[in-house]
Amino acid sequence: MQLHYDAELIEGIVFLEVRRSPALLALRYDRARTKLYDLPGDEREAAFFQLHLHWFRELGLEDKLRAVLQRFPIITANTATLLVRRTVTKKDEGAELFVRPDAKNVAIAFRCERLFEPGFESFLAHELCHVSDMLDPSFAYEPEIRLTDAPPAEVDLLRERYRVLWDITIDGRLNQNRAARFAEFQKVMPTVPEQKFAEVWRQRPPHPELLALAKSVLVRVEKTPGAPCPLCKFPTFVWATEPPVVEIGKDFPHWLPAHGCCARCAELYSTGRLEQPAPLYI
Ligand SMILES: [Zn+2]
Ligand SMILES: [Zn+2]
Repeated sequence: MQLHYDAELIEGIVFLEVRRSPALLALRYDRARTKLYDLPGDEREAAFFQLHLHWFRELGLEDKLRAVLQRFPIITANTATLLVRRTVTKKDEGAELFVRPDAKNVAIAFRCERLFEPGFESFLAHELCHVSDMLDPSFAYEPEIRLTDAPPAEVDLLRERYRVLWDITIDGRLNQNRAARFAEFQKVMPTVPEQKFAEVWRQRPPHPELLALAKSVLVRVEKTPGAPCPLCKFPTFVWATEPPVVEIGKDFPHWLPAHGCCARCAELYSTGRLEQPAPLYI
């Protein structure tokens, strides 16, 4: 596998490193750069790239990346290239696998500052672990999650649950972020017992099992006329369009907006007129 860098990333990283290094180093760097401005335009860009690549390696910055990468032999053995590129925002950071008939390639993007942050190794390992799983036949990954006839909100919920579960299996193997993952698990799967979290954390179930688990907790809510309201259980003909989520959550901790409720309950909760909590749902 070959490593490729985009020019902006290595320039940005070298720049940050030089600025926090002794003044002499910064001076050497500035001189080396200044010389290159005399080159003809078409040669200049390539020369800058070579300069930054040289410094990126000499300053031991590439080693930080390689140290994490070598923990994933499935990636190094099965992909042709790893492109490392710069992104400006945190939300665009992450790794992707591109599968072409002739080759598999990986791209990973992060902010230049990321390399110097304390969580760099765990961030990179987490992202590479996603890619490693996709390449690992024992994980049996499939890129498309299909749910026939499901309303879009339900598919989004399923994707979110699947993402949380996959992240749990990854951080379980890397032994990091347990508390944060558990909080996510409780948020998207409040009705699933804690023990399930521990199982997923320890055992790394393959993709089909994760998907089945994510689907098993999906709540199919039939908001048809006459169906019972999940809060008051009365046959409901008028469903609330915007139930007061926070107020209802105080009495019904496992209730989700997707469950819905009758217009009457919604009105009672939004005006705070309900003094006695109704029987608990779920
Ligand atoms: Zn993840
Ligand atoms: Zn009701």
